[in-house]
Amino acid sequence: NVIASSNKRVVVGLGPTGLSVARFLYQRGDDFCVVDSRQSPPALAQLQQEMPDITVYAGDMPANVMNAASELIVSPGVALDEPAVAAAHEAGAAIAGDIDLFVAAANAPVVGITGSNAKSTVTALLGQMVARAGKAAGVGGNLGTPALELLDESNELYILELSSFQLERAGRLGLRVATVLNMSPDHLDRHGSMPRYHQAKHRIFRGCQAAVVNRDDPLTTPLLEDDVPLVSWGMHEPDIGQFGLRDHEGEAWLCCGFEPLMSVSSLPLPGKHNVANALAALAIGSVLELPTEAIVAAIKAFKGLPHRCELVVEANGVTWVNDSKGTNVGAAIAAVNGLGGDNNIILIAGGQGKGADFGPLKAPLANHAKALITLGEDAAKLERMAEGVVTVHRAQSMAHAVELASKLASCGDTVLLSPACASFDMFSGFAARGDAFAAAVRTLTGETDA
Ligand code: ADP
Repeated sequence: NVIASSNKRVVVGLGPTGLSVARFLYQRGDDFCVVDSRQSPPALAQLQQEMPDITVYAGDMPANVMNAASELIVSPGVALDEPAVAAAHEAGAAIAGDIDLFVAAANAPVVGITGSNAKSTVTALLGQMVARAGKAAGVGGNLGTPALELLDESNELYILELSSFQLERAGRLGLRVATVLNMSPDHLDRHGSMPRYHQAKHRIFRGCQAAVVNRDDPLTTPLLEDDVPLVSWGMHEPDIGQFGLRDHEGEAWLCCGFEPLMSVSSLPLPGKHNVANALAALAIGSVLELPTEAIVAAIKAFKGLPHRCELVVEANGVTWVNDSKGTNVGAAIAAVNGLGGDNNIILIAGGQGKGADFGPLKAPLANHAKALITLGEDAAKLERMAEGVVTVHRAQSMAHAVELASKLASCGDTVLLSPACASFDMFSGFAARGDAFAAAVRTLTGETDA
């Protein structure tokens, strides 16, 4: 039936996001079907159980279904240049993502947070600030619960972590506050180039009511009309109304303009990059007019997320840190610079480099590292980068890497797993990789607790 199908939505991809889209459309009684190129997509059984009358095409994305669609809701895991998607778009189907459906349905203001790194940390920290301020908020998106499953009439606010893939297919989001935390190369294997990756990220600012930018990273600043307030943060002295660091009573303090808010030494999270993350969350919290006491109390109580510069144990004067979520070069640089002193870092890195240039790691390694231990698919590429910079050892497994590190480490050193790479060559994901590291460390040191 040509008329029925010409008005049809097709949900492309049946993972957690695709399932959330299907549930949303199903509840509204919309006409849609689901396609996935995989024979058994992860959420297939769940969808069939909850929506037995919905047609699913698995193992193939049939051209007649795709090309007759009026709109494709494409999951972030599916590339827009995937031939079946590109052909349907060519044939007239509009392209959208779950976040478009979300903002159209949300009953409260939405904050969007993106960036190459620190998205989850800042999203979680802002969530704690809002909770302390006594506001009901839905917190999730790319992290945790898919956006559409956060929708709830009782929420007064939504805080979404947004990935470049979600943004790439989103239209005008009209967010209450939008921010790009930082920009460094990542996912260039899918985005193709830094300008295209930048363009995808900056879609977050379309129609926003306020923007928060990082003064130390010009690529985070959008071009907006003069009437859109721009609040900035940076790791140096701020102007009035902006956020940054100032000396106060002989110490560095996080400040708004000239007003000292809290000392850097009262931050519980390690590393300079986490000072940056606290400033970013502060700036967003202030735009949302959250009470300063709630903001500061949340930062002081924030324990961080697992696998992000997480302390595993301290044993015999050696500190073992799990930064498995350091999945790109920028993240590993932040971790090495953030935790590094005088050649006290033994860095464990490697995995799938996603085509990245490891060159920018040279200076942080030269400044802070005692040794580099490599593993995984791109170990040799890392070793070429480190030649003449730092001594290198190749590990065959995570347990082997930990064993090598313990032989190299002496009192005062930090062994840091911050791979600068994706984990899928050896693990099911960054969490499994971090768990393998922590387990090997605990076995070797005999310590069970941080
Ligand atoms: P994302 O959700 O963007 O991946 P996370 O908060 O999960 O960000 O942190 C991922 C990794 O990024 C951390 O493990 C750390 O290595 C690095 N990182 C954290 N904060 C920063 C920052 N401000 N700048 C650069 N890298 C950072």
